[in-house]
Amino acid sequence: MDERSKSEDAALPFWRAKRLDEMSRDEWESLCDRCGRCCLNKLEDDETGEIFWTDVACKLLDHRSCLCASYSNRHDFVPDCVELDVEEVLTQTYTWLPPTCAYRLLAEGRPLESWHPLVSGDPESVHRAGVSVRGRVRSEEDIPADTLEHWIVEWPGEVPVPLPPRPPRRNKRTKSIG
Ligand code: SF4
Ligand code: SF4
Repeated sequence: MDERSKSEDAALPFWRAKRLDEMSRDEWESLCDRCGRCCLNKLEDDETGEIFWTDVACKLLDHRSCLCASYSNRHDFVPDCVELDVEEVLTQTYTWLPPTCAYRLLAEGRPLESWHPLVSGDPESVHRAGVSVRGRVRSEEDIPADTLEHWIVEWPGEVPVPLPPRPPRRNKRTKSIG
């Protein structure tokens, strides 16, 4: 890499300057936009491999924050929770990652979206943009496990249409009454 490329990279945010397998642990973790979509139960067609998302969330998912309630020791409660492996992300093995997922976007050579907290600087932007699962899911503890196919939904596999920008606020004229 020549000196000019090095200085250009230094001016870029880490998710544009580095490959996924060059990132530090903290950088890797910060890529997660906290949408909670990967914590939904999914079904896979045995023959075609097609993934069907449901709106039934893992029992540990907090439906308001969209965070795992016991992230550091989640495997004590949910042994099959998948810890993303960088090589498998890069080879796009995880076909069940939603199309909005930062790991999937970067592995596919696409940019992070404007609502990603790293881009917006605001952890709430992922919720405002309709990307997170906030307010849209139920817990797996509230339904019989053999009814999952009744809860199949399309939206976790879709990218929400961005909201139009808000018009500028006009200053209101006020007058006292009475
Ligand atoms: S889908 Fe991706 S970005 Fe969203 S919570 Fe899961 S790992 Fe994080
Ligand atoms: S254990 Fe936590 S991180 Fe894993 S699927 Fe459940 S809520 Fe998500």
